[in-house]
Amino acid sequence: MFGILVIITFVFIGLMFYLVKVVVFQLEQNADEDVLKAKRTFQGIIEQKDKAYSEKARLEKEAMQIFTLYEMTKDISRHFNEQEAFNLFHQKLKENVTVEDCQLVADLGESSKGQIISGDYSVFTLKSKEENLGFLIHKGVPAKDQEKFNILAHQFALALRRIKLYKDIERLAVTDGLTEVYTRRYFLERFEEEVKRASIKKIKLSFLMLDTDHFKMINDQHGHLTGDCVLKEVAVIIKENIREIDIVGRYGGEEFCVVLPETDLEGARLVAERIRKATEQRLIKAYDTSIRITISIGISTYPTGGKGVEELIDKADWSLYRAKTQGRNCVVAFGQYNP
Ligand code: GH3
Ligand code: MG
Ligand code: MG
Repeated sequence: MFGILVIITFVFIGLMFYLVKVVVFQLEQNADEDVLKAKRTFQGIIEQKDKAYSEKARLEKEAMQIFTLYEMTKDISRHFNEQEAFNLFHQKLKENVTVEDCQLVADLGESSKGQIISGDYSVFTLKSKEENLGFLIHKGVPAKDQEKFNILAHQFALALRRIKLYKDIERLAVTDGLTEVYTRRYFLERFEEEVKRASIKKIKLSFLMLDTDHFKMINDQHGHLTGDCVLKEVAVIIKENIREIDIVGRYGGEEFCVVLPETDLEGARLVAERIRKATEQRLIKAYDTSIRITISIGISTYPTGGKGVEELIDKADWSLYRAKTQGRNCVVAFGQYNP
């Protein structure tokens, strides 16, 4: 009996021992799996970290390249001339991008259209704030360099816009708002330059002072706005009857002035007569009326009529006064009479 009890006790202890072992084994296995899982998660995190580092490095490199491109192209926007800006852009393009050819064209004319249609060239439209500034036609840019090309081309478009704005401002600063000829101040600067040039080259130059006859009456009869239209038309008539190299300005209210480089007194008289006749013959349409006007012109010539701007203006003014006293609608040249 005692023996059976001992056996049962041993069997029981053995069973218990076995059970504990099984439980411990199971726990160990679970722990191993947890460790393995944790290891795997850790490995995943390390891999993700490495990936993130290499992505960061790649992005930094790309950003640096773009930054360098922008830095380099800053110079492009320092130019105030389209051709100079394009030359610099072209140089930077060649340094940074594989490109066979790149040309700046104002519009897609027949020749460039042909090249584009035949597939040789691609077009980049230079745009800034929806305004079309021209086109870059280019060939031989590989896909890997396309992004860089776009950055450079975009920078060039910005430079072109700055150049255009600068030119607009420059033009506005020297142009009379009503008649679109030069302002008095700018005209006098140009006049000064032309007198210097004539003195250095020892050539003649003539100066015309033009004044609209009885202009006050036109204002009084038809109103100031109609008077403005008449002044605009006088400026048009003057421009129609001079050369490209001649310089026109609005001297004051209804007075205009013209510099005729390399022109002697006789030549100037021909030009002045042409302007006078054209004005007399023009039927000027302003609002609901049509008006005829006349102008009087005084001429002075360098060097006989004056050695500098002031003297030439004085003499032309004197001649204009003579034209007025002679009955208007006529031309008087200084030297024609001895003052
Ligand atoms: P004259 O034949 O002697 O030159 O006579 P005039 O009436 O032309 O000369 P006056 O100097 O007496 O008058 C010039 C007029 O031009 C007076 C002025 O009100 C007018 N005027 C000046 N500037 C402008 C302008 O920008 N627009 C208009 N509509 N009139 C102007
Ligand atoms: Mg006057
Ligand atoms: Mg007048």
